[in-house]
Amino acid sequence: MSKNPYNDGPLIVFWETTKACELKCIHCRASAIESRSPEELTTEEAKRLFNQLTKFARPPVVIMTGGNPLIRDDINELIKSASYLGLPVAISPAVSARLNPDALIKLKNSGAKFMSISLDGLSSTHETIRNVNGVYQETIKAINNAIKAGIILQVNTAVMKVNYLELPKIFKLIYDMGVKVWEIFFLIQTGRGSELLDLTQEEYEAVCNFLYDASYYNIQIRTIECPFIRRVLKERGEGKSYASPIYKRLHEDLIELMGKPSSSSTLGKSGTLDGDGIIFIDHKGVIYPGGFLPLPIGDVRHDDIAKVYRESPLLKNIRARAFNGNCGSCKFKWECGGSRARAFAYFGDPLGSDPACILNA
Ligand code: SF4
Repeated sequence: MSKNPYNDGPLIVFWETTKACELKCIHCRASAIESRSPEELTTEEAKRLFNQLTKFARPPVVIMTGGNPLIRDDINELIKSASYLGLPVAISPAVSARLNPDALIKLKNSGAKFMSISLDGLSSTHETIRNVNGVYQETIKAINNAIKAGIILQVNTAVMKVNYLELPKIFKLIYDMGVKVWEIFFLIQTGRGSELLDLTQEEYEAVCNFLYDASYYNIQIRTIECPFIRRVLKERGEGKSYASPIYKRLHEDLIELMGKPSSSSTLGKSGTLDGDGIIFIDHKGVIYPGGFLPLPIGDVRHDDIAKVYRESPLLKNIRARAFNGNCGSCKFKWECGGSRARAFAYFGDPLGSDPACILNA
């Protein structure tokens, strides 16, 4: 295996700008709260963080997440500051009254290049998950407004028991709206993500195979905490077929809604893992391998983030694929590597096996 391209620096830095949010989503990673915490990084501390990030040879993409980052009244100043230093900025706002056309123009003019908006289901499913009446129509409006404002828009969908059969319809909806990137998040049982919402291994496998099919329609398909989709990509690419009643239903719905595909697959053959191309900084400045892996490895208020990323023993083991259990001996460990966050959530071992993968039965 050639040298890991992310040994020296991450591709993506997630920064939890605040934990405050107007919504109370049932699967919220941040377990968001109503008002801002006095412990959040200040404007000046955030700017110091951006300066630290410029020490990496390749400027990482900074994803400003939350909570709802628009609750911070300095958000445009911070986007400008990061962009000025050459850091590409993406923002993940919650859909609320703050995300209006004026706010979108300001975000764009401040330098936000990318935006993600969450859509977890059609109408009532989305509103049940987001816990707010009327938020479905507001979300559709926000997606259209962001595209009009000229921001590169990604739609995020968290896959759960309550929505996975709607995936073909969500795909068709965003395709028709002109969305170019669809990011599917596979649940980790942390924050408000409860055991009852999570899928079985067979359901995950069916969803991965459905996403493989959906990747042939010219929308960029990305996943979070589902690296074993790269195993599915390899297996299907080598001609291995997959059959199950759930997959059959998802596949048939896709073909009925979209017709036969005409492009090549947009799935990436390689990708990132928590600590391997990704790093997460919480609202207090504490550094973690990823947003769903609650093992602190440093603090931007006191530590050099480049040193933490390069020298953390845990991150070095993740990047070297020094895993335990099946993921350690799996022939797909370099393409995939399993979700480190899910291994920790289930087994208390961030180097353990990913229990969502069907190879770990
Ligand atoms: S066993 Fe682990 S490394 Fe292998 S495909 Fe499954 S999750 Fe990936």
